[in-house]
Amino acid sequence: MYVKQIELTRFKSFGSTTSMPLLPGFTVISGPNGSGKSNILDAILFALGLSSSRGMRAEKLLDLVHSGSLHSHRRVETHVSVTFDLGQGSGHVGTHGAGNGAAPPREWKVSRRLRVSPGRGEDPDSPAYTSTFYINDVPCTLSELHEQLEAMHIYPNGYNVVLQGDVTSIISMNAKERRQIIDELAGVATFDRKIAQANNK
Ligand code: ATP
Ligand code: MG
Repeated sequence: MYVKQIELTRFKSFGSTTSMPLLPGFTVISGPNGSGKSNILDAILFALGLSSSRGMRAEKLLDLVHSGSLHSHRRVETHVSVTFDLGQGSGHVGTHGAGNGAAPPREWKVSRRLRVSPGRGEDPDSPAYTSTFYINDVPCTLSELHEQLEAMHIYPNGYNVVLQGDVTSIISMNAKERRQIIDELAGVATFDRKIAQANNK
């Protein structure tokens, strides 16, 4: 399984729609400082439903909208989609929104749309927004999305993506904190959370 395509519209530094086809294996994105390399990773996390905008290096969700497109009197939409190639034997994932076809789907697409409405009255600095997730172009809830991602061992809040500074922070952790990461990577932490949840009920 690999990321086959990323499409960004009005996300951070990407003003117009930008489509990035990717190949299997190792991909390097190179470019000058500030040219938008890390913004591409932020976009992937955005589509995968990362809960904290700080994890995408933004103070608030609205900072992810291309600033040149934000206008106090117009609606603006930010859209990101990430298409996975599921390869052979995709099993039970990817069925959401894919109809009742016999053959398992080879592709699985997750998208997120942020609709920003102009600020009310005299306060253009507080625009309202709605965020919608889609699996294969069918709207879904964030928990449905996370359930399917979990089935594919993709954890937007976890360590599929190693951000700038993560390596340094892992090195300077104590043994207990480092063990928590191993539990998270091994999938044990999910069960610990479920046990804690059940005990609290
Ligand atoms: P480096 O090599 O330094 O890590 P990079 O290629 O990873 O750089 P990014 O951090 O991806 O660069 O991009 C930073 C750029 O994105 C900055 O120029 C910043 O102004 C721009 N940017 C961030 N948010 C927005 C936004 N909402 N609208 C427009 N531009 C934005
Ligand atoms: Mg960077």
